[in-house]
Amino acid sequence: MATRIISEEERRNEWLSADDQPLYEARKRIYPQRVSGYFRNVKWFALIVTLGIYYLLPFVRWDRGPNAPSQAVLVDFPSSRFYFFFIEIWPQEIYYFTGLLVLAALALFLMNAVAGRVWCGYLCPQTVWTDLFLLIERWVEGDRRERIQSDESPWTFTKVRRKTTKHLLWLIVAWWTGGAWVLYFADAPTLVWQLATFQAPAIAWISIGVLTFTTYSLAGLMREQVCTYMCPWPRIQAALTDEYALNVTYRFDRGEPRDSLKKSEARRAKGLPSGDCIDCNQCLAVCPTGVDIREGLQLACIQCGLCIDACDNVMEKIGRPARLIAYDTDLNIQRRLQGKPEIYKMFRPRTILYAALIVVVGLVMVSALVLREDLGVNVIHDRNPVFVRLSDGSIRNGFTIRILNKELESRFFAVRVDGLTNADVEVVGAKLQGNGQAIVEVGPDQTREVRLLVTLRHAPPESSLPIVVQVTDLAGGHSAEARDYFRGPGHEEGGKR
Ligand code: SF4
Ligand code: SF4
Repeated sequence: MATRIISEEERRNEWLSADDQPLYEARKRIYPQRVSGYFRNVKWFALIVTLGIYYLLPFVRWDRGPNAPSQAVLVDFPSSRFYFFFIEIWPQEIYYFTGLLVLAALALFLMNAVAGRVWCGYLCPQTVWTDLFLLIERWVEGDRRERIQSDESPWTFTKVRRKTTKHLLWLIVAWWTGGAWVLYFADAPTLVWQLATFQAPAIAWISIGVLTFTTYSLAGLMREQVCTYMCPWPRIQAALTDEYALNVTYRFDRGEPRDSLKKSEARRAKGLPSGDCIDCNQCLAVCPTGVDIREGLQLACIQCGLCIDACDNVMEKIGRPARLIAYDTDLNIQRRLQGKPEIYKMFRPRTILYAALIVVVGLVMVSALVLREDLGVNVIHDRNPVFVRLSDGSIRNGFTIRILNKELESRFFAVRVDGLTNADVEVVGAKLQGNGQAIVEVGPDQTREVRLLVTLRHAPPESSLPIVVQVTDLAGGHSAEARDYFRGPGHEEGGKR
């Protein structure tokens, strides 16, 4: 049988019939142009504030006394604590993070209901770092036109030098981003010194390496692809939005029919209809995600407002009113076309609900923080054996009690067991007061475990007797208690509590 040799292109054409589409669209390289204006300034402000906080916060000190770290924000894994200025979170209080996540989600919903993807356009780390990387790119390689020309031209010494400089600067920023992250997990000045002298632990180097790679890849190489293809938020927010949410919108009621400035002026001179858009494509040139907003609201649009600035600059130059592109709604466009007044509804059921939930969750968290106890106690019953029969016939139960001292100084606690009559109570390692009261010392901001032995001279008639273990601070009088059961032989015989 004759073998037909086909070219690569023929083979592809055989696979792709006229109706077939490739599974993945080839990436179109985007060269965002520099732009100035109100929204650009808002974005610079957001960038400086957010990056300033991120890079500098680990160096802010907070005096908590001699027995606690002096870093304002610290995730202290060795002692299982999270410090945030005057707040100290213990492992048992991890639910505060749940509250914070709920608050963050509600804030995102509220932002979305008011003004679309404000988070994406101004505050999202991907946006902020991409902005920073673009700034470096422009500084090294020039603005849009120069970068396009450079990429289309053959490799020269200047081109290699510029590309190398850009990538080196990106790597330095990415490295410092990873470096700042690990400073939240150790005393920042100490760790900086250890990094500078190559004495830092391996985990610090590994973490910085991973974050350097992710920052460089996401903000330098992948950029808008992260927002368009990887991030789930655009899909979620599309389901959460409504007709009153403000979005960056091309006001086609004003812009169409569009034409070049020359033709547009000629049409106007003849009294023919002509829109304000002069088809200059400046809005598209500045867009960091390559969106032409005149085609309507799109998934890739991060609502950064830069196209508003670009168009406003054009309108100012040609003497037409600003805000041909603006934060607006399709509903208002339709109403203007119908000669009806615009509607802006900031206060509507969903925004009121989100705001109310933010207030309620915030108040619950603040109250929980203000009212939380500065001591705690947990009791764990021995499992094997559950009880011991002593040689004189009495029954003994063993427990481990864990006392939490959340104050930054040592405290003495009296331990008491209630619920049993004629029981002998022994706290192993405790000091005894004159009245036989067991006293346990717990160091500052520490947890201490002690053994508690409770003995009854006669086997209890019930399988289990409820007990209350109470610890009381000798100085302040505060107390905490935990409940458990004293178990006897009936327990083995299948008796219930
Ligand atoms: S910048 Fe304004 S005038 Fe120019 S194409 Fe965009 S919408 Fe039209
Ligand atoms: S279309 Fe406008 S608002 Fe949307 S991402 Fe592009 S520049 Fe930003």
